[in-house]
Amino acid sequence: MQPRDLSDHVAYEAGRGIEEVARELDRDPDEFVKLASNENPHGPSPAATVAIRETAATVSSYPKAAHADLTAELADRWDVDDSQVWLANGGDGAIDYLHRAALESEDGVLVPDPGFAYYGMSVRYHHGTVREYTLSKAEEFTQDAETVLETYDDERMIWLTSPHNPTGSTMSLAEIERLADETDEETLVVVDEAYGEFADGESAVALIEGREGFDARDDVAVLRTFSKAYGLAGVRLGYAVVPEAWGEAYARVNTPFAASELACRAGLAAIDDDEHVARTVETARTAREYMRESIDARVWPSEGNFVLVDVGDASVVTEAMKRRGVIVRDCSSFGLPGCIRITCGTEEETELAVETLNDVLADRERERDGDAAVEDDGEPEVCDT
Ligand SMILES: *Cc1c(COP(=O)(O)O)cnc(C)c1O
Repeated sequence: MQPRDLSDHVAYEAGRGIEEVARELDRDPDEFVKLASNENPHGPSPAATVAIRETAATVSSYPKAAHADLTAELADRWDVDDSQVWLANGGDGAIDYLHRAALESEDGVLVPDPGFAYYGMSVRYHHGTVREYTLSKAEEFTQDAETVLETYDDERMIWLTSPHNPTGSTMSLAEIERLADETDEETLVVVDEAYGEFADGESAVALIEGREGFDARDDVAVLRTFSKAYGLAGVRLGYAVVPEAWGEAYARVNTPFAASELACRAGLAAIDDDEHVARTVETARTAREYMRESIDARVWPSEGNFVLVDVGDASVVTEAMKRRGVIVRDCSSFGLPGCIRITCGTEEETELAVETLNDVLADRERERDGDAAVEDDGEPEVCDT
């Protein structure tokens, strides 16, 4: 007996971990810096660490109160009803819940290309159909309503990522509103704000609630996570903010106790630690500007805690950087084989990444010049694999 036909499904390719790379190269993990998964270089909020430790003794109980408390706290912060906050096992879990709540078999979902792989994976688990709209490199990965509408064909859902992973571009609330206006009433526009804390603009929650001069609407939802700015990737905690009309669906689609006791307690502590978030955001802003100024290759402007860099051949450059101790993300799996993504690290980590990348690029330049000189000498050309 076999599982169902999964030939359309692909496995998620996470950024490589330090342990994994050190083992592969038979080296000490201490020799590596990892800037491949957009994690928080300052670690979790110290308050969250304390909360996790203190919660350890009570994890024999199901997380009922903690789940309700965190939901209420987030609802309060966003000024929405508790039912509009859908806690989940990471932002990824919230992606699943939105699909569970929205999709009938074969319903279409429009996702960005390049883009975050999990949208499409989750759509397929829920028996939906994935279609892609293109964010064009030639047009600076600009995100506006027109770009999506060119491909839109009455899909049930549209995923926007703002700030976008891996390019760092954003879509303005005015453009998101225009997209929601010009698509069918039965099309839900979901704005993934996994990197929202690092951006300048307002959250698209303003569109749901009718704030900042927008009319309230029931066809926009927002995704948020504790994995990035809050430094809690390891506990798996995220949520969706949905329109009021969608609130009641959560109880019908969520996995019971969607977020763990440890996650909820850590989350409650982390959202109160404004200083940790402010420091994290400041570090990212400084690092991304520094990388744009100092890297000897094209670096796109980014509102996230990472930058996208045009290096020519991502797999070769990623490999060379790894051997020199810096692990970055090869964006081939995002559909950008010429680009790498570098997470904003601490000042020292970021400087090391820039230095290492510039060395690798310079070496490649020299090799190319060397090859050219050899060719000029009439030597046979060597096939470069
Ligand atoms: C990191 C990320 C998420 C959510 O990640 P979780 O760890 O599951 O919370 C969602 N969308 C994008 C674009 C991301 O980069």
